[in-house]
Amino acid sequence: PIVYPKPDGVISFDKLSSVFLSATNHEEDQPAHLKLKDPSIPIAVNLPKYGEPARLYCPAGVYEVLYNEQGQDPRFQINAQNCVHCKTCDVKDPSQNITWTTPEGGGGPNYPNM
Ligand code: SF4
Repeated sequence: PIVYPKPDGVISFDKLSSVFLSATNHEEDQPAHLKLKDPSIPIAVNLPKYGEPARLYCPAGVYEVLYNEQGQDPRFQINAQNCVHCKTCDVKDPSQNITWTTPEGGGGPNYPNM
């Protein structure tokens, strides 16, 4: 594991602050546009073998591995509404298990300040 310094809020920022600046939005009731070919692979294969890298490489913090209060029973959570459509996960998942599909029209990042 690599230990990175915490963002200082001056020249480095946390992921969710950057997602906020992108004005990313997806309708809550739209079909999930991030699909797993096999939902068991993130925890059964990617976590023990690679430390589930999706939680690290996704720039928007879409993928999380959550544990219960005892720090056990990991589960994979996808926060698809935060996706900024970079498609990294579609390419970089070591098990090639994630498929990025086109979301409903109008959904995604807007970058209103650019
Ligand atoms: S497309 Fe990019 S932002 Fe969206 S979930 Fe995949 S890695 Fe994260």
